[in-house]
Amino acid sequence: MKLSSRSKAYMIPEYSLTGDLLSYLTCGLQYRYQNKGTLPPSMPIQLWFGEFIHGVMEEAYLKWESEKTEFPWNWKNDIRPIEDMIDLRLQVRGLYPPANHFFTTNHPDIEITSEDLNEYEHKKLASARAEKAINVWGADLFPLMESAEVLIKGLREMPYKANDKRSEYYGINGVIDVLSSINIKKANENKIIKYLKNNAEFQNIIRDLEDEDYEIIIDYKGMKRPPSDVKTSNNENWDYHERQILTYSWLREQQEGKRPVAGIIFYLNELVPSKEDLILIKDDIRHHLTDIPKKSEYLSDIELIDNWQQDDKLPELSEKFKMDRSIRIIPINEEKIDDALSKFDSVVKTIETSIIKETNGCKIQEAWKAEAEERTCAACDFKTFCKNNKNKSKNFKIP
Ligand code: SF4
Repeated sequence: MKLSSRSKAYMIPEYSLTGDLLSYLTCGLQYRYQNKGTLPPSMPIQLWFGEFIHGVMEEAYLKWESEKTEFPWNWKNDIRPIEDMIDLRLQVRGLYPPANHFFTTNHPDIEITSEDLNEYEHKKLASARAEKAINVWGADLFPLMESAEVLIKGLREMPYKANDKRSEYYGINGVIDVLSSINIKKANENKIIKYLKNNAEFQNIIRDLEDEDYEIIIDYKGMKRPPSDVKTSNNENWDYHERQILTYSWLREQQEGKRPVAGIIFYLNELVPSKEDLILIKDDIRHHLTDIPKKSEYLSDIELIDNWQQDDKLPELSEKFKMDRSIRIIPINEEKIDDALSKFDSVVKTIETSIIKETNGCKIQEAWKAEAEERTCAACDFKTFCKNNKNKSKNFKIP
């Protein structure tokens, strides 16, 4: 009797929008070592804070949904237990909090109970931001939410025509929160709805809709607002974030048949900027690289930032300034989606080409493009041996 042979395994490469595509765009070689290698980054502050704040916001929403705890929430009683839970989850994945950003009660080397916590001594930067994010945006955001942490997935044709391509298709995925038009119509004095009403492009899109039932997707970023003048600033995050929202919108439509009409990104560092954030914000304002502030209503904030020196105490910026910089509305239309998808296809093509080169024996540093901003190189775990490290001369300067 002839035994039938098992068919060849068929693998569809899966790409996450943030974990793969945006990470690759930051630096191809760093992405290779972190995502495709076995080396976890030693202290990726931005990665840790991004994951932390996402987790805190999701859990805060679930708590609000079940307990309807009134805002403002008390940090010690309402927020700190959520932070502890998220910290523990991240530690299980090997992501330990940076000591100067977060006081942890979970670390194996620290013997401390939550009774020992002192609100003033232990509310470090990450906790201060979590508290602000929940109390500034949660009260208005949570009642509009239809669902949280929705996994969206889709398949696209592999944009790579060679015979050695790994698969005919590639998978793309992401996780979003969704706001529904039903909840939006029910809300009256809501801060987020006011921002939506002030956005002319968004208003035009919903005016022309045949169906009154629409969605808005939400994403949180553990970073400052990127410069909106992408060309002069040489920082493309502004465009990458828009493309991410547009691709999420396409995925959501594939999955649910409903196309989101806008995305909202919350840049949560803006609510409690650090010294490093403020240096960059000052630079953005001085060189006219940012969309906010551009109006006369922020004159006193602009003056405070302009007069601030790095050794000074951080200036007391107005709540309006911080809120306006922390929210970004991205109206969605078909044309923009097509453009974003084709750009992401080309990123996948570049990653796939590098993987195939490496599989065929090419050296890692030759197979992957190493190009990053100076700041990214400065914080990179691989800077000591990367030939393209922008800070190399600084690292090895002999006095
Ligand atoms: S040092 Fe810079 S160029 Fe080299 S891998 Fe790291 S981020 Fe990329």
